[in-house]
Amino acid sequence: MNEQASPYLTNCPVGCSGTLQPTQYVLPEGALLRCSVCGQLISQCSEQRYWQSMEEFDDPQGTLPNARSVERRFRRSKKFLDRIAALLSKPPAEIRLLDVGCSSGSFLGSAVKLGFRAEGVEPAARAAQSAQAAGLTVHQGLLQEAGYADGQFDAVTLFEVIEHLKEPADLLRECRRILRPGGIMLVGTGNAASWSAAAMGAKWEYLDIDKHGGHISFYTPHSISMLAQQAGFAVADIRTRGVRFCDRGDCAPGLYTIAKLAAELVNPLAGMLDKGSDMAVYLRRT
Ligand SMILES: [Zn+2]
Repeated sequence: MNEQASPYLTNCPVGCSGTLQPTQYVLPEGALLRCSVCGQLISQCSEQRYWQSMEEFDDPQGTLPNARSVERRFRRSKKFLDRIAALLSKPPAEIRLLDVGCSSGSFLGSAVKLGFRAEGVEPAARAAQSAQAAGLTVHQGLLQEAGYADGQFDAVTLFEVIEHLKEPADLLRECRRILRPGGIMLVGTGNAASWSAAAMGAKWEYLDIDKHGGHISFYTPHSISMLAQQAGFAVADIRTRGVRFCDRGDCAPGLYTIAKLAAELVNPLAGMLDKGSDMAVYLRRT
């Protein structure tokens, strides 16, 4: 890695004009920077490292869960889909849904199974082909290239996408265009204001570009709300879940067990206080 290379991100992705100040989260790419206006955390990784890390993650397996976690992943997807249907007050069969960045189609497959009229768009070729081979309707390429009509969808989902983007407002505006008025967009991303981030600092796995290719921009409930409002959405609901105080190998074995137990105990409280590490942001197109 070239330590001297200039960072890919030089401005707050939310579009703030404040300053970017170094934090105590020191990664191999340098300290994460915090936007003085919205609190967004921003990586200093170079453009070359960014694209290299993105390519490392285009494989046919994509987001497909292994056999053991299939049922758990389905239940999780169903929770999101139930919430979308409730916010739209419509049954799945009347909901036209687009999963943007659908990868190999794990979430999309769940949506189709539950009766949603769902399709996906995915730029990574191998992941998209894998989803198509599974019988799912997937456009391989960028959303902006797919040629969807204005107001074509009732719901758009965006999992693990927004933290990869230098200029997320462009994508959000395109999502808004293809959503009908009153439509719902669900954005799934990590929570930089979570207890996991506070407890684990730079060791919080979500920040690691080697393990999560392309992760360069880290949202809080506040910063993602600001971005959404600027792009023409109202926040309908924010739900967070998940707490980790340390990873196995980063603390003594006895301590790890206690930390894991403590994390499970405080998990419901984290959800109530928006301090969970996984964030689901439900937005309504205004
Ligand atoms: Zn900002």
